[in-house]
Amino acid sequence: MTQQSRLLAEAHLHMPQGVAENYRYWGEKDTVFIASAKGCMLTDVDGKTYVDFRLGYGPIILGYRDERVDNAVIEQITQRGTLSGFSTELDTTVVKQIKAMCPNIDKMRFANSGTEAVMGAVRTARGFTKRDRVAIVEGSFHGLYDEMMWKSDIEHWQPGSNTTPKVIPFGGGIPERSRALLSIISHNDFEDLENLFGTQGDTLACVVIEPIIGNAGSVAASQSWLQRLRDLCTQHGTVLIIDEVKSGFRVAKGGAQELYGIHADLTTYAKAMGNGYPVAAFGGKAHVMDVVGSHPGGVVHGGTYTANLVALSAAHATLKILAETNAQQTINHAGEQIRAVLGRAFTAAGLEHAFAGPPAMFGIHFSATVPTNYRDWRVTNSELYRKFAWELIARGVMLEPDSREPWFICEAHQHMDLGWLEEVATQSLRVALAS
Ligand code: PMP
Repeated sequence: MTQQSRLLAEAHLHMPQGVAENYRYWGEKDTVFIASAKGCMLTDVDGKTYVDFRLGYGPIILGYRDERVDNAVIEQITQRGTLSGFSTELDTTVVKQIKAMCPNIDKMRFANSGTEAVMGAVRTARGFTKRDRVAIVEGSFHGLYDEMMWKSDIEHWQPGSNTTPKVIPFGGGIPERSRALLSIISHNDFEDLENLFGTQGDTLACVVIEPIIGNAGSVAASQSWLQRLRDLCTQHGTVLIIDEVKSGFRVAKGGAQELYGIHADLTTYAKAMGNGYPVAAFGGKAHVMDVVGSHPGGVVHGGTYTANLVALSAAHATLKILAETNAQQTINHAGEQIRAVLGRAFTAAGLEHAFAGPPAMFGIHFSATVPTNYRDWRVTNSELYRKFAWELIARGVMLEPDSREPWFICEAHQHMDLGWLEEVATQSLRVALAS
């Protein structure tokens, strides 16, 4: 019996599914228990090591146990404590760091998770516009709260059937009425966009979008579609919220918005801003953010752990490194090399493949063309990808066995053995194609 299966058997007695959150349950045989992590490497409780491209769903941007960040946190909490429920100088310092990298931000507030940041941004948009409706894009993910937990049932949708996928809740416990104010549009579909604003333009508080969908294999909005969305939001007084929880401080210093040169009214950040420490934020234009406050009709935002010193010292150290060093170029270069190696293995096997998104967060799709939206993703060979991923995991490459989750690259990947990766990818592909 492996240590892993022993720990899972015991965990079943104490936690539903035997895990601390649903997505960590990979089945009785494959649920992973980690003993330690360093750089881009994970070691499980049975001593097996992995080069990790999952990186905790994206937060690790420098590497696990980065001493520059860890020492800053240790210094802060041992000298000042973790929280006091009062303001600190660091609050403004970190916002100023973010503003220097992200010209879309005038004012901000902090949060503890991506979900909380999205909730804060949406409430702010509703408070500012005095409207209630919200629109999101098919295939995106904006956190685990009721209103955002509606999705297109893509698995049961028949491509080419002239029907639209059914909208279903993520699971139980989500009231039907939480969907009442939500609309779902499709990436890069101009007709959907015009219809949305044509029918709801005056009641739409905000559109929440990941321009590079970090939850659908980095499938990206086209420049012209995103620009049209920006223009329609401006025209209708709708707040454009760009959710950069995955892309922020990762795909560029200024996130996806820097790559497109298109700015949101409000933006959410989390993950990469703290290299694995739980910190998040939302912010944007001053006149929109100033609706937050204790004045009559002001939007309430807060929470016991908001801007705690563990979170802010980690953000301060991480953002300083991203702003002042060439970490981002290193990450992009490593990502490009990793893509090249994988591409060679796919080509050698005669496999049609397409990479989506930027090198720091790229999707792999077994199809002739890059998917342009979630429905396109459905016709890629995701079943082959799943088999390929499991073979990689068996050989010491950690990733999510679902092609909707991108490959995440951190600074520490610069030291990885690319020759080994090519060999492992080639073997894994051979087995996957034969099965
Ligand atoms: N928005 C996006 C784009 C995300 O990818 C995620 C998490 N994967 C969230 C929001 C929610 O973040 P968290 O898990 O930190 O609550």
